[in-house]
Amino acid sequence: MIQRMRIGPGEKPRIAARDPRDDLGLRDKARAHARLEELKARIEVLQQRLYAEARHSVLLVLQGLDASGKDGVVRSVFAGVNPQGCRVASFKAPTSTELAHDYLWRVHAVLPARGEIGIFNRSHYEDVVAVRMLELAPERVWRRRPGHIVAWERMLADEGTSIVKVFLNVSKDEQRRRLQERVDDPEKRWKFRRDDLAVRARFDEYLAAYEDVIEQTSSEHAPWHVVPADRNWVKATAVAGLLVDALERVDPKLPEPESGIEGLRIE
Ligand code: AMP
Ligand code: MG
Repeated sequence: MIQRMRIGPGEKPRIAARDPRDDLGLRDKARAHARLEELKARIEVLQQRLYAEARHSVLLVLQGLDASGKDGVVRSVFAGVNPQGCRVASFKAPTSTELAHDYLWRVHAVLPARGEIGIFNRSHYEDVVAVRMLELAPERVWRRRPGHIVAWERMLADEGTSIVKVFLNVSKDEQRRRLQERVDDPEKRWKFRRDDLAVRARFDEYLAAYEDVIEQTSSEHAPWHVVPADRNWVKATAVAGLLVDALERVDPKLPEPESGIEGLRIE
């Protein structure tokens, strides 16, 4: 399942040629949900060990167009995971204080500490893609950023952070359905902004910008994955699978207890 999503270093992701409705072999919703529950149980155990060991961290980077389901993934994969030991950061357009620094400043500040799982809902990749699409900086500025990012992620990996990057690949038609639902459902309406339509009108251009940046920044130490995102059950199970894979590679160990504790009777 993971190999089907992973983009090798220098590989073209060919996003547009990938099916957003691919089921990754999960076959049906019931089976996927059962698998998701198993994966979540595994995440819980491994997170506990990661936290106890406090040597490594795991960073999950979620990118995707509007309504690709980034928030939903956070909810379904992390519901039930101990909040102590998780750290979620959502990135919006930078504030004036943030803009007074380099673009990685605000990102670096919210990285997971040793022992934590970090979740980025959008990320420093907005500083390439959004900045490019909205012409927030000249081309030479965003062109050089993928190079910085590869080096920066390399440093983080060397220092003990396992990075998993996910692009949620939603189809234009499914995006239309979800945006319509946001308009129609009073509980969801707050999420909708007129600007989303301007972005939607350039759907293919955004995909092309992601195509470029993913090709330039998928590396051994911080690989990208294109996750089919039209079906929620596929998306959540796939991301949980990627997280378990990353945690298993870290293979955190519980600290050695003090000697002579086993069999001790508490009076
Ligand atoms: P949402 O995810 O719906 O809350 O929207 C957040 C918005 O902030 C999106 O339109 C992003 O493209 C935008 N955004 C996030 N980071 C940046 C950035 N570094 N530069 C410009 N826009 C950004
Ligand atoms: Mg939005």
